[in-house]
Amino acid sequence: MLPDFRLRQREYLLEISRAMNARLDLSSLLKLTLKSAVEILAGQAGLITLRRDDGALAPRASIGLPLKAVPLFEPLWRDLEDESKPGTTLDISFRLALASRAAGVQMRQVVALPMEIGKESIGYIFIFRTRGVGFSTNDRQVLSAFADQAAIAVHNARLYQQVSAERERLTAIIENSGDGVMIVNPYRIIQTWNKTLANMTGISTDEAAGRPCYEVLNLTTKQGVSVCHTACPLINPPEDGRLYAEGLHHRADGISITLADNYSAQTNEEGQATQFIANVRDMTRLHEAEELKQTLLSVISHELKTPVSIIKGYAGTLAREDANWDKATLADGLSVIEEEADRLDRLITNLLDASRLQAGGLKLQLSYLNLADMAKTAVEKLQTTTDKHVFTVDFPRDFPPIRGDFERLQEVLTNLIGNAIKYSPGGGLIKVTGALAKHNVVRLSISDEGIGIPPVDQERIFDRFHRVDNRLARQTPGAGLGLFLVKAVVEAHGGQIGVESVPGQGSAFWLELPVGGQ
Ligand code: ADP
Repeated sequence: MLPDFRLRQREYLLEISRAMNARLDLSSLLKLTLKSAVEILAGQAGLITLRRDDGALAPRASIGLPLKAVPLFEPLWRDLEDESKPGTTLDISFRLALASRAAGVQMRQVVALPMEIGKESIGYIFIFRTRGVGFSTNDRQVLSAFADQAAIAVHNARLYQQVSAERERLTAIIENSGDGVMIVNPYRIIQTWNKTLANMTGISTDEAAGRPCYEVLNLTTKQGVSVCHTACPLINPPEDGRLYAEGLHHRADGISITLADNYSAQTNEEGQATQFIANVRDMTRLHEAEELKQTLLSVISHELKTPVSIIKGYAGTLAREDANWDKATLADGLSVIEEEADRLDRLITNLLDASRLQAGGLKLQLSYLNLADMAKTAVEKLQTTTDKHVFTVDFPRDFPPIRGDFERLQEVLTNLIGNAIKYSPGGGLIKVTGALAKHNVVRLSISDEGIGIPPVDQERIFDRFHRVDNRLARQTPGAGLGLFLVKAVVEAHGGQIGVESVPGQGSAFWLELPVGGQ
């Protein structure tokens, strides 16, 4: 049979262990340890000091002492380390007497034991008695078990603090990363979804966490085939081991963005993936820029090269010394060269205007204009280029002068009437009409009886480089810049432009301009 107090000691130590497992906070754990130690050693009070970051000891928990009195016990732990050197420090009973008197309490006996984690001394545990019976060697042994428990509690608390601080640091890094960060478990369930990703996709962390990534991101190809379901690198890792997926993400607001996911796998000791960390980037702008570059290259190579080779061909032929060209042939050849040079000039002007637009908006030179006269002049000029079309220009008498940029609006008319001719190769009627749309707004419309524009293209023809993909457009010279510039000019005037068209029957472009200009 164990002696009674040993049994109690065990019970107490067990209770402290349980409390530790229950993750009680450090203060409560130290208090519990002190309470048990005081009881088992038949003491009346106890105190634990812990070493602070600067190395000095400071009280951390006490029992049986008035709170205000605790700091006055400081003589007890001052220079305590030097206790081993005989004669250099005061005797501990003398220190206790000093402290008791200062604090106004009656503590007669004290036992102090160091608390250690490994070899590091982290503090001291003190137990006090108000009566005169001193602490025995046995008491010290009993206390040492409690000192160990207290040291473990401190150790755990420190580890926990370190882990929490580390976790906070990592969370902050992930949250504030400029890239989207998503962490999924091996079943592709989202564990982490950072702020950047939430902004990118419009899906909040709460909405995403706990759901499968293939549902939340659901990347698709341009044709709408699900990349996540057919080509997820986490399910079918490619041979080169590069875990990469790219595709369109369709946001709830209707905008589609191109996302690129770069995964890295975290593995356990058996080499199995425990989670995948994905770096998610929005590639939309990069893709657009890349596509634009490609289009620009092909436009330049096609649209610039064609007139240049025609000019070169004609110039070379006309310059042949062995040929004796008659006047008419010479005139024909030279006029082709002139036409092609004009075409080059228009294209280069358009390209320059487009890049100027991109660089910083359009500057208008405003004056009062007579649009009816301008329309007539444009028609007269372009009429000479065709003998298949019939033109009408119809403006009401009271059509008001408007404030606008002469050169730019001239370009708008030339472009729209030019297109009406270009895209009605079979000829037909081209009508330029003016009207007062509403108070202080005029409306112009240019209609043709040409090939028309399919509904899907009607919005997009105003985009840079967009051309309807049909045989005629492929055969007709053009860079897809005209309408882009027309729209920019109209909008710079505070106006609007649109098109109504029936494929096979013709198109009617309309534009509305405020009379007062912008
Ligand atoms: P471009 O004529 O140089 O190709 P635009 O920006 O002027 O460039 O026009 C863009 C596209 O819109 C054209 O390629 C053509 O497919 C279509 N389009 C423009 N005007 C008409 C029209 N009047 N009728 C039919 N299609 C047109």
